[in-house]
Amino acid sequence: MTAPADLEPLAVDGGKPVRTKPLPLGPHGIDDVADEEIAAVTKVLRRRKIFRYLERTEEEGPSEAVQLEKAFRELVGCEHAIGTTGGTTALIAGLVGIGVGVGDEVIIPGYTYIATPSACLVVGAIPVIAEIDDSLTIDPDDIRRKITPQTKAIIPVDMIGLPCKMDEVMAIAGEHDLMVLEDVAQACGGQYRGRALGGIGHAGAFSLQHYKLVTSGEGGMVTTNDRDIYYRASCRHDSAMCFWDDKMDFAPFAGENFRMCDLRGALGLVQFGRLEGLLTRMRTVKRRILDRIGDLPVVRPCPINDTEGDCGTTLVLTTDSVETSKRFSEALAAEGIDNGTKHNAGFPDRHIYCYWDYVMDKHSHDASGWPWTSPLYKGSVEYSRDMCPRTLDILGRAVSIGITQRYTESDADDVARAVRKVALGVDAKGG
Ligand SMILES: *Cc1c(COP(=O)(O)O)cnc(C)c1O
Repeated sequence: MTAPADLEPLAVDGGKPVRTKPLPLGPHGIDDVADEEIAAVTKVLRRRKIFRYLERTEEEGPSEAVQLEKAFRELVGCEHAIGTTGGTTALIAGLVGIGVGVGDEVIIPGYTYIATPSACLVVGAIPVIAEIDDSLTIDPDDIRRKITPQTKAIIPVDMIGLPCKMDEVMAIAGEHDLMVLEDVAQACGGQYRGRALGGIGHAGAFSLQHYKLVTSGEGGMVTTNDRDIYYRASCRHDSAMCFWDDKMDFAPFAGENFRMCDLRGALGLVQFGRLEGLLTRMRTVKRRILDRIGDLPVVRPCPINDTEGDCGTTLVLTTDSVETSKRFSEALAAEGIDNGTKHNAGFPDRHIYCYWDYVMDKHSHDASGWPWTSPLYKGSVEYSRDMCPRTLDILGRAVSIGITQRYTESDADDVARAVRKVALGVDAKGG
């Protein structure tokens, strides 16, 4: 393990850095936008039909928003998909779809984007925050501890492309008669034990925002196999849904317009065509780095609930203490390997519950403090910034390295070389 080359002086101590050229980081799909996307969007503009429900000639073909829904049905292997204006609106429509409403508690992980609790609050539900485990996804044991008579649903979130323990989540939901809405915003195309994420729970919510794997600019998708969930979510996503779909044998209710237009559909559809290639590339790169890192002192790769199903967007390494992780991260950055920790973001990271200010402070758009103060809410949730110490500890010890489709083999080898060099160097200095 300690080949002489591994004990080169660390760049942080004045040694020669492994690389000086920045890694090819940055958002994924948007970085690949090319003539195909431009042509597809331009075609919609030239056609002067952007609204998805307009009639079209044979030559014009079906609405791009409708085609993107079909693509998601095939990806997820489900009966229904609804294009939306974003991931948050997909979550809102999905929550309404699965029957979550005022006064219901929804269990979510302490590590997810603030949009997840926000969507709960928008429909009048109360987010209940559960710990994550070493896999950086929701801890099934803590879900059990957080269940109350008010609990209606669980939102497992596949953060940074890492699949949740969906078998355990579904088993708990079955035992307690709870609904499951998967937040797949960061894991489009990911899988768990051979099943597509977004198709395991009662419904799934995807995001196609600029920073996600593939993008429609802003956009999202609700997926489900259940016709009632589909109709309920459809109603929420379009206040006139019942007029567009005359086959809807369903008593409609009021909604907001979260409809996807064909401009977004067209961009999303071309991007969707790039998804498989992106995933294959990133998974290959991640495997290459992991193979070359091997066993090391000081750091180890974060355990993954399904290695095959991981999207491969992020390599996470963990140490035994926050201090060591900080040291490791700084030394790795000095080697030319950009990396992220809970500590070096330079701003409060809204993916960590303690920075969800309006949740922590129960601050509502409504002066009454709704929904927490609603008489329909019979529970007594309390929040504090240290309520999930395990989550903070795990994230405090995690060092993440972003992976993109632009990595060459030599970029991947540099990452592995730098990780080895720093781990051995930090170890030699006493951890
Ligand atoms: C991005 C994101 C969302 C929200 O998606 P938008 O399209 O930005 O509304 C929800 N959940 C998670 C985990 C996200 O990363």
